[in-house]
Amino acid sequence: MSTSSMRRVVSVSDIAAFGALDMLYNQLRFIEAKQNETEFACQGFGKCCQIGLRLHMFECANIAYNIRQQYYFVLEDNGKDTADSFIETIVDDLRERMFDDSWEPGGETDEMCAFYDNGCTIYKYRPMVCRSFGTISPVDDYCKRMRKEDGGIDFFSGKAVEDVVKGFQDLIGKYADSKPPDKNYDMVVYMPLGVLAFLLPDEELHQLSFSADEKFWSGNIGWFNYRTYFTKKYGYDDSYLEQIASDAGMDVIYTDVEGLDVSSEGRGVDSVVTVDIRKDQDID
Ligand code: SF4
Repeated sequence: MSTSSMRRVVSVSDIAAFGALDMLYNQLRFIEAKQNETEFACQGFGKCCQIGLRLHMFECANIAYNIRQQYYFVLEDNGKDTADSFIETIVDDLRERMFDDSWEPGGETDEMCAFYDNGCTIYKYRPMVCRSFGTISPVDDYCKRMRKEDGGIDFFSGKAVEDVVKGFQDLIGKYADSKPPDKNYDMVVYMPLGVLAFLLPDEELHQLSFSADEKFWSGNIGWFNYRTYFTKKYGYDDSYLEQIASDAGMDVIYTDVEGLDVSSEGRGVDSVVTVDIRKDQDID
């Protein structure tokens, strides 16, 4: 196993990209507000947060950056002990999910998301996939929203949604291009690990790499492999993604791989183990 640094850092240019991401989130905020005016409004049941998400490192970085910012707000308002306790609780919850025996790479788990505590604790900067659920994507059977006769819900779609999702993919692609290709920034990973990679010191990440199960350390290289319902439905088409992947000497991963479990309607990802993210990648 490589002994190189496992800690990931946020750069000044990343912060500009996070601002652009938040503007895209605004579009989904607008759609969600519209959806909540309809009969298919979210009922706040919370079961959709029983999931172990996989995200691109870009959104993990955005979450970690915002948690750090929140730390300083708490520090200013309530002092260092409270701020330290705030971030320690978050890190402990994330670390605990690195030992979730029930988690499967498709996102299935018996546990609630590390950021769920009677509601989403990162609501203002929760990832796009959570915003997509029930707004631009269908919902799973357990969701208590009002249903149509066919069991489904109406959700938003069309060119405006496609523009947002393609803009999202463009942003991730730019983020990936701005990073050293061998350092696992352009990677779809288990969210707790992705966020911890920006929060924990290197030594603790290395310790974690020895103690947490192998299954958490698999990732898919390439932003074009962030393939979940909303990116596949509204994002760039397969031929475009295949070309981008091919130019980078990689492959796009498809759902029709034998044995793949993508049971979650809205948020499962095409989860094929491609690389061990504890190691730097050998990419030309
Ligand atoms: S990030 Fe928030 S909204 Fe998304 S699954 Fe976790 S708790 Fe739920």
